[in-house]
Amino acid sequence: MLGLAASHLQNLRRRDFLAGDALIDGHWVASAQRDVVVDPATGEEIADVARCSPSDMSLAIAAADQSFAAWRRLLPARRGAILRSWASLMLDHSEELAVLVTSEQGKPLQEARQEIAYGAGFLDWFAAEGERAYGETIPSHKLGSLLQVRMQPIGVTAAITPWNFPVAMITRKAGAALAAGCPIIVKPAPEAPLSALAVARLAQEAGVPRGVFQVLVGHPIELSTPLLRDTRIRALSFTGSTEVGRLLLEGAADTIKKISLELGGHAPFIIFDDADLEKAVKGAMAAKFATSGQDCLAANRIYVQAGMYRAFVEAFVPAMAQLKVGHGLETATDVGPMTKLSVANKCRAQIDDALKKGARIVCTHQGSSLGPNFVAPTLLSDVTEDMLIAREETFGPVAAVLSFESEEEVIARANANEMGLAGYIYTDNLRRALRLSEQIECGMLGINTASFTGPPIPFGGWKQSGLGREGSRHGLAEYMELKYVCFGDL
Ligand code: NAD
Repeated sequence: MLGLAASHLQNLRRRDFLAGDALIDGHWVASAQRDVVVDPATGEEIADVARCSPSDMSLAIAAADQSFAAWRRLLPARRGAILRSWASLMLDHSEELAVLVTSEQGKPLQEARQEIAYGAGFLDWFAAEGERAYGETIPSHKLGSLLQVRMQPIGVTAAITPWNFPVAMITRKAGAALAAGCPIIVKPAPEAPLSALAVARLAQEAGVPRGVFQVLVGHPIELSTPLLRDTRIRALSFTGSTEVGRLLLEGAADTIKKISLELGGHAPFIIFDDADLEKAVKGAMAAKFATSGQDCLAANRIYVQAGMYRAFVEAFVPAMAQLKVGHGLETATDVGPMTKLSVANKCRAQIDDALKKGARIVCTHQGSSLGPNFVAPTLLSDVTEDMLIAREETFGPVAAVLSFESEEEVIARANANEMGLAGYIYTDNLRRALRLSEQIECGMLGINTASFTGPPIPFGGWKQSGLGREGSRHGLAEYMELKYVCFGDL
């Protein structure tokens, strides 16, 4: 009997979304070598996909290089029109794309639908931003000269994308690259390739020319090595772990590529005694359990000031108890499986380590018996800085609550981590909020909110959380070079 994911996939109107072929130079390539895709909730095989070779990647690089001249010459408004029709095709196929995402990644279907809308939003937003790559005119320091700074497309680009947002992390990169006038080659995560390939079919239908957007699936090192070595690849954008980010940074050194890295996080979520408790609990629930905790913005350390600590834990437990754990395709599921068994095992190891060092489990949930990739939502109280969970990214539904006394102390503890992607502060004291907004070391900070992402904002981190920004005009600039031109003798 077919499992839940396989039976949903069998009903997809677009059968071609399941073909699993790579898109190279405008052609759908079915390699003889195939890799299986599994439903992480059940382990059931749901499809197979082409395993592209390094020589397929060389063909893709040549095709992208060939396509560059014509693509950059198009008027930005024309490129924008193509991006907009790609976005609208994604929205037209939102339900089918969402089913693919949930089947291979595991997140609840409602969150998968939100991801499709979020992902299409980047294409739409960059469609317009591409028309605003204005450059500058500099007041001259020499008589009779005119000084200009132009923004020009950098050339052929590449993206290596993760499994936690298998659609939106592609469009956030590709929207910017294509709007800037650059072709892009995408290597999606092997755990969630079907949605990437489906999005590529829609790109082709929207009129993205051959070679301008290509998707190759296969072994990460076999496919990334030709990308790193080839001097025609001028920029590489990566989202994933800090370990792999470091390898890619090193690998890009030989050919001096522009590299943008969106790596792990370890967000402090700081709640002061004067905060609105109800809003803080709601925010912490969202920042911890969205994407089943597999989110680089996830609240990894929930710091609660001593006077609020008990009340927070007492309010968080019943909120957590309402979460429904299950298959992402079942209605009302809030928390699905971890996409990778290694991520589930890391959560369990962090819980064991914390318990050994004196933390307490205040609430653990049903769910762990559903399968090896499921981690029961867990609240750990009395967490201290020496525990693994306070230092390493968790990437799962385990909430660690730590107590603090003073503002100075919590700033120092929040900043002591090597990561610096996001942070959250809950307080009703405006002066304190302003002080902390200056002092917390991170790229993105929510004050009394856990919801702050979207196409117009510069997404990215400090320290070991990465380099560069995605989304916003800064995201467009990652795919552009500056050219200074001096007109003399005027
Ligand atoms: P990963 O970094 O291994 O995978 C991300 C992408 O990199 C995938 O496309 C993968 O195929 C590719 N990749 C892996 N090894 C590579 C290599 N040597 N060269 C080139 N590409 C390579 O991440 P993971 O192991 O799947 O997850 C581990 C941890 O990474 C997670 O627990 C989490 O902490 C972090 N992570 C963060 C994000 C994020 O949104 N920033 C996303 C995924 C994972």
